[in-house]
Amino acid sequence: MSAAAKPRLVMKFGGTSVAGVERIRNVAALVKREVENGYDVAVVVSAMSGETNKLVALTREMSPLHDAREYDAIASSGENVTAGLTAIALDTIGVPARSWAGWQIPIKTDGVHGSASILDIDPKGIEDRFAQGTMAVVAGFQGISPEGRITTLGRGGSDTSAVALAAALKAERCDIYTDVDGVYTTDPRIVEKARKLDKISYEEMLEMASLGAKVLQTRSVEMAMIHRVKTQVLSSFDGQVGADLPGTLVCDEDEIMEKRLVSGIAYSRDEAKITLVKVPDRPGVAAAIFSPLADAGINVDMIVQNVSDDGKTTDMTFTTGKADFERALKVLEDNLHDIRHERVSTDTNVVKVSVIGVGMRTHAGVAQTMFKTLAEKGINIQVISTSEIKVSVLIAAEYTELAVRALHTAYGLDGP
Ligand code: ADP
Ligand code: ASP
Ligand code: MG
Repeated sequence: MSAAAKPRLVMKFGGTSVAGVERIRNVAALVKREVENGYDVAVVVSAMSGETNKLVALTREMSPLHDAREYDAIASSGENVTAGLTAIALDTIGVPARSWAGWQIPIKTDGVHGSASILDIDPKGIEDRFAQGTMAVVAGFQGISPEGRITTLGRGGSDTSAVALAAALKAERCDIYTDVDGVYTTDPRIVEKARKLDKISYEEMLEMASLGAKVLQTRSVEMAMIHRVKTQVLSSFDGQVGADLPGTLVCDEDEIMEKRLVSGIAYSRDEAKITLVKVPDRPGVAAAIFSPLADAGINVDMIVQNVSDDGKTTDMTFTTGKADFERALKVLEDNLHDIRHERVSTDTNVVKVSVIGVGMRTHAGVAQTMFKTLAEKGINIQVISTSEIKVSVLIAAEYTELAVRALHTAYGLDGP
């Protein structure tokens, strides 16, 4: 960076923020304000809302068993459109700007098509343009593989493009503009009394995201945490820009004064439950069940092994993501001849509800409150899992909203 270089900002706009020409004009106006505030800005854009879903549906319609490289070629294209349109919108209001596809920068990723990880970003091209007074508009969600093919970063991946670019450019902050004005104690679309958080720690945000709060892609939070990127979630709809921190800042735990036992509640409908009924209760059975699943790259999330009443057999229950469910059943069918279980029962009508808070490290009783609250509502807990800063339970999907609302109240999170 030369001595005269300006401070830099990354501004990321999600699907609803770029949903049409008018919304993109609004984005350009927000970017112009930050340029006038003295920043060199790299804008990262998503596809218009609904567009990626349409592209994915077309790909599946052509063939459910398509090549993942072509999925990426297709799914990444929505972002190219919004990047170009945003650059035009900026030029039109007197802010020189050029669009960049992932491969042009390049944003180098591994070759895991459909959910590639960013390995390296060379910021030189963008920096050279900054030096000439030209802002950058980068197509989010995409990169280039070692084989030179286009990759995508998994659904919601533009968040990760933005944070990674902020790290590469050593930006002062990464502002993630979306359709809510920050990170809430739980999804504000299902709990009216959800409260906006001024700050949330990287660790809590990581748990919230990985447990279902899709406001930030999990990998973007990981990336922010590793590279210590100051990241803010804020709204593109209320006319404010980032400097006064109107949104939610994701930051280090010790920057947060207000200490809370529980910071948030998340839920995920992306769960499928599999039970092996009456498996023999002897050493080696868990290994025999879970090793072939691991070998097939299937992530097993929650596990419970019931106490056997006769000392001879037990039920083994676990969950996978919905996308892996069919494959998991096939792997079990192919590998479990020797186990001699009675049968397999399944349920995809389940949801995982989690309470999250760093306060759990030092305070007991969080899990009990959760169990008691759900019991009072007559909600049966099917599986439980815990870690240092969260407790998760699996329940019937029909109780999702009831459970989340009741827990929100029980932990004193309700706003006015
Ligand atoms: P974008 O298209 O801008 O990337 P997303 O739809 O991916 O936006 O993420 C924003 C959405 O995340 C919100 O509309 C909200 O419904 C949802 N959400 C889930 N949990 C939370 C939470 N705890 N706080 C804020 N938003 C949340
Ligand atoms: N357009 C992509 C998606 O819908 C990436 C993103 O919006 O972050 O998943
Ligand atoms: Mg998103």
